[in-house]
Amino acid sequence: MTTLDIKDLHVTVETEDGPKEILKGVTLTIKDGETHAIMGPNGSGKSTLAYSIAGHPKYTVTGGSVTLDGADVLAMSVDERARAGLFLAMQYPVEVPGVSVSNFLRTAKTAIDGEAPKLRTWVKDVNTALQALDLDPTFGTRSVNEGFSGGEKKRHEIAQLELLDPKVAVLDETDSGLDIDALKVVAEGVNRFRAREGKGVLLITHYTRILRYIEPTFVHVFVDGKVAESGGRELADQLEAEGYDKYVRTAAV
Ligand code: ADP
Ligand code: MG
Ligand code: MG
Repeated sequence: MTTLDIKDLHVTVETEDGPKEILKGVTLTIKDGETHAIMGPNGSGKSTLAYSIAGHPKYTVTGGSVTLDGADVLAMSVDERARAGLFLAMQYPVEVPGVSVSNFLRTAKTAIDGEAPKLRTWVKDVNTALQALDLDPTFGTRSVNEGFSGGEKKRHEIAQLELLDPKVAVLDETDSGLDIDALKVVAEGVNRFRAREGKGVLLITHYTRILRYIEPTFVHVFVDGKVAESGGRELADQLEAEGYDKYVRTAAV
């Protein structure tokens, strides 16, 4: 059993005018077998939530807790979080010039498992993962994210997801900037991952489009740094029809 438990999480970010509270009490429980979609307008704090779970140094937790199977995630370093089974796909992934995709994946896998993967099965697994994501085998020789198209960045993230095999995946706008073919390939990758035993997914998205291909267990509307409403897929359908106006107006009062 896997449970990522976020309780009354408050987070500030350092700005020119001093610390500004972005997350204002986020409470969310993700269990294995569940996919939670977080949907919200731009600037509502969705990426801040993802970065806070991942342990990005720019974000300061001022209250609340995050635990993974009872272990205090907030007390862990970024590496420890990855080893504990958390995976974060960034909205804006960084370039790592001079480090090939193959080496990057192998290094990450070794760090997470505590031992290097067996070479023969590993090469096969990498090739299978790349192929399933419609990536050319030569993709492994390219520098991480350098000159990648938007679609290649997202496919590379899903290749990481499938190969690193975390317990909980936090995917921040994995759908943004994808054409429909790339979106389907990426969604299929996420679906392969979550079909495995004991996996949880936190799918952060601005648009409902990806939810046509990835069926969410729960949908949360995220406004002004917290969950404004939770429901099932019908909530996404309602957002598609009506947008965020209703929630944004309520939050502004
Ligand atoms: P979303 O992902 O929902 O669009 P973000 O988490 O990126 O929202 O941002 C939420 C709010 O926090 C925005 O008002 C944004 O300007 C502010 N913010 C986020 N990160 C920083 C930062 N590093 N410095 C200053 N402001 C930030
Ligand atoms: Mg509070
Ligand atoms: Mg964002």
